[in-house]
Amino acid sequence: MPTKKSWAEPWKIKMVEHLHMTTKEERIKAISAAGYNTFLLKSRDVYIDLLTDSGTNAMSDRQWAGLMLGDEAYAGSRNFYHLEKAIQDFYSYKYLVPTHQGRGAEHIFSQILIKEGDFVPGNMYFTTTRLHQELAGATFVDVIIDEAHDTSSTHPFKGNIDISKLQKLVDEVGADKIPYISIATTVNMAGGQPLSMANLKELRKWADKYKIPIAHDMTRVAENAWLIQEREEGYENIPIKDIVYEICSLTDHATMSAKKDPIVNIGGFLATNDEDVYRQAQNMVVVFEGLHTYGGMAGRDMEALAIGIEESVSDDHMQARVGQTHYLGQKLLDFGIPIIVPIGTHGVFLDAKKFLPHLEQDVFPAQTLAAEIYIESGVRTMERGIVSAGRNKATGEHYYPKLELVRITIPRRVYTQSHMDVTAEAIAVVYERRNSVKGLKFTYEPEYLRFFQARFEPIK
Ligand SMILES: *Cc1c(COP(=O)(O)O)cnc(C)c1O
Repeated sequence: MPTKKSWAEPWKIKMVEHLHMTTKEERIKAISAAGYNTFLLKSRDVYIDLLTDSGTNAMSDRQWAGLMLGDEAYAGSRNFYHLEKAIQDFYSYKYLVPTHQGRGAEHIFSQILIKEGDFVPGNMYFTTTRLHQELAGATFVDVIIDEAHDTSSTHPFKGNIDISKLQKLVDEVGADKIPYISIATTVNMAGGQPLSMANLKELRKWADKYKIPIAHDMTRVAENAWLIQEREEGYENIPIKDIVYEICSLTDHATMSAKKDPIVNIGGFLATNDEDVYRQAQNMVVVFEGLHTYGGMAGRDMEALAIGIEESVSDDHMQARVGQTHYLGQKLLDFGIPIIVPIGTHGVFLDAKKFLPHLEQDVFPAQTLAAEIYIESGVRTMERGIVSAGRNKATGEHYYPKLELVRITIPRRVYTQSHMDVTAEAIAVVYERRNSVKGLKFTYEPEYLRFFQARFEPIK
């Protein structure tokens, strides 16, 4: 009798996309030409691309068939009404405003709700979300529980809000200076950590007392729901679909990057239960995105999204999605490789400080490790450490973040278990020869978001 019950994908493969296989010599040339920055590699030179889960999803045959049903009318496309119904049926929100992707919705939403001098509390920040809040005149205040910042903490819900931090903010600035509470399911910058339903219910009660609405960054809500089903008492037997619905119905507004959870390659939306916010958003979307019944998406893309939403909240899909991420994470743990635990839902994070303890942070251990993994195997990952953190504007010094990580992100429904095996084995080979790995130095350092375009050379 087998001791372990395996999961398998709830789909089979109908069409394949060939990958370009390279030799180690070719990869050494390619990474050198890319300045040892995986963002500057050509996709053709990459074998297994684990750079991001954003827009890299594989659509189903139903979604591809949906593309043929695209109604490209300028106004009132039938695909808009299908998408609107999907948002009402699966996410509970009454009103929909489509946008070209998540940040388009964040822009419109922040401009409508925020006044100069406001404060927006949230469970850790996300890059584009916080930037749009700041551009609208607000100061972001982190109200996530302390455990979120502690990599060794195994708290099951590191995405939870600390209500006492919220209370302190209201006591200091007054509830009228807080246009909304910004919550994310799951918290990307904390390594994909979830919020619990109990915490969300408590937050709802608190928010009602002060009449402050809750805005939901629902980019990975199904992944959060999966973790609630796994970890929260009373939810073991509740379908993901119902947990997603319950999360959404405890909030007032939402922004979505459809490039993540809902399994499409481009798209996003703003959703709300507030008719007044809806009217204002409809007004703004025509200025910045497109007419309110397409907002920057083609009709066919709205159709694929409507179908993708339904597929994304199925238990079988989520089991395979998270199962694959955990499979890779467990394999790395079995090789003794240092990763961040608990393993998240959308990716696995290597701890580069522990992987390459002989390298000082100023020779960019995570950047170096991502380049070495590519050279070893053609697997593309990315740096999340000192290069991403940038420099302090005032002192010109690097920021030295606590976390020096390599992010291995898994696209939805794209790769097989064998691809995960090859990835883990390649990382294990680099781990074997880790003592011979030397660091990198800058040859070009851009002023903004330097990790995208920076170039390096190996230290001799
Ligand atoms: C990707 C992402 C966004 C921004 O969405 P885009 O579609 O990339 O504009 C916002 N919030 C979170 C949590 C994300 O992961």
